Amino acid sequence: MRIAIIGGGIAGLAAAYELQKSRAAGQPVEYTLYETRPRLGGSLASEVVAGAVLEAGPDSFLTEKPAAAELCRELGLGDALLPSNDAARKTWIVVKNRLVALPDGLMFLIPTKLVPTALTPLFSLRTKIRMGLELLHPPRASEGDESVAALVERHYGAEAVDRLADPLLSGIYGGDATQLSARTVLARLVEMEKKYGSLTRGMLAAHKHMREAAKNSAKTQKRAAPPIFTALRGGMQQLVDALEATLDPAAIRTGTPVNKLERTASGWRITTAAAAEQYDAIIMAAPAWAAGAMLSGVDAELGAELAAIPYSSSITLNLIYDESKLGTLPEGFGFLVPASEGCAMLACTFVHRKFLGRTPPGKAVFRAFLGGMRGEAMLAESDEALVATVRRELSQILGKKVFDAAVEPEHVQVARWRRAMAQYAVGHQERMQRIRARLAALPGLRLAGNAYDGIGIPDCIRLGRQAARELTGPAS
Ligand SMILES: Cc1cc2nc3c(=O)[nH]c(=O)nc-3n(C[C@H](O)[C@H](O)[C@H](O)COP(=O)(O)OP(=O)(O)OC[C@H]3O[C@@H](n4cnc5c(N)ncnc54)[C@H](O)[C@@H]3O)c2cc1C
Repeated sequence: MRIAIIGGGIAGLAAAYELQKSRAAGQPVEYTLYETRPRLGGSLASEVVAGAVLEAGPDSFLTEKPAAAELCRELGLGDALLPSNDAARKTWIVVKNRLVALPDGLMFLIPTKLVPTALTPLFSLRTKIRMGLELLHPPRASEGDESVAALVERHYGAEAVDRLADPLLSGIYGGDATQLSARTVLARLVEMEKKYGSLTRGMLAAHKHMREAAKNSAKTQKRAAPPIFTALRGGMQQLVDALEATLDPAAIRTGTPVNKLERTASGWRITTAAAAEQYDAIIMAAPAWAAGAMLSGVDAELGAELAAIPYSSSITLNLIYDESKLGTLPEGFGFLVPASEGCAMLACTFVHRKFLGRTPPGKAVFRAFLGGMRGEAMLAESDEALVATVRRELSQILGKKVFDAAVEPEHVQVARWRRAMAQYAVGHQERMQRIRARLAALPGLRLAGNAYDGIGIPDCIRLGRQAARELTGPAS
């Protein structure tokens, strides 16, 4: 069986790895991986500068989703897995240019502890009263999807959207809470609302259940809580390099965009600038907007559905500083900026705090995240302008004594990610049903990537490997 993989991001690489395993296990599988860019990895890209690991794209993955760590271990990268420094975890929200800590007891956006919620300066008295009354919230009558903002506002008010839901989710999706689908992004909360009405009551019940389960398992085995995030000591590039090393170099076509995709009597034909080639099956791991364009000639409806999945663009800036030239930073991993603050920055990570051992002693690394659904125009700004904006905003937020905008960074890295992050907009589940129905009539075509069933690295890996297995059967 000849299989083409289109797109060499983490989803396409995971698919190729799985096909390579099938081939090694003696299955009659051939594959070719097409990638537009000169390098593999898609959004995963890191470099080491003067001993500091700088992530241009993702810096880590959620530990609770096992697919990424599992793959790393399979690739011999078990020793390179690096837990987040959770002992020092504290997240700040910027409110009127000042840092306010997220109150203790917040679970998945939901306040579960009375005293910290009552005392936090993050919310006005009105919102706090609303949070208390939320315990009496009735279940929602309608079954239809709604935006994250609508769900959170209905329960806790507009301020909770502005200061909690929007900044927390824009850090993950570069998205906008008024557009993101509650059923997709907050599926757990939607289920809780159905059962309990009140999200706080639902979360308290889930928490009680988890505590009891943890107590029971602690009786049988003593295990430390897993870290929230897991990174790689050498950066995400380590995963890309390790995957590439397992693949057949002759099967990799970087710098080769697929221009056209057609169905033929016996399968599929791919056209690139160099040639047209025939395959039995296709794993489409390019972003949905690119997939939509390629597939519109095969099935116009499928092409239109894929092309309609919105994407956001983002920018990351890494700034390395000599710590002795800065004041004392607030504790914790960094801060999030609500849209209402009117800043260019959506978030900033204190990299040297989040993952220990990836920054040389005496250096501080700031990683600012800009752009998102509301900041598309920023991608056109020059590197110099972006760096100046971030330095100015860091000084405003942290205070001049802590961060003086006039102090020069030792190194600056700017990365632009155009239309890289899919947005699960309201109605995403229904769109996915329509997409699956169209795919059922196109044998040998599989989709993988961040536009469908999970934005993070573990989900992209899971979908890539699953697509390969569905075409070939398990490797061993
Ligand atoms: C700045 C940033 C920070 C992030 N942070 C995190 C994080 O901390 N943790 C986390 O889990 N996730 C994070 N994510 C999300 C995660 O990195 C992505 O969702 C994931 O890497 C997407 O992988 P993918 O393979 O689906 O797509 P991509 O990485 O976009 O790869 C798709 C590839 O397809 C190629 N392509 C497009 N058209 C064609 C064509 N016609 N022919 C051939 N090739 C084509 C593209 O060049 C690209 O390389 C972040 C994303 C970004 C952008």
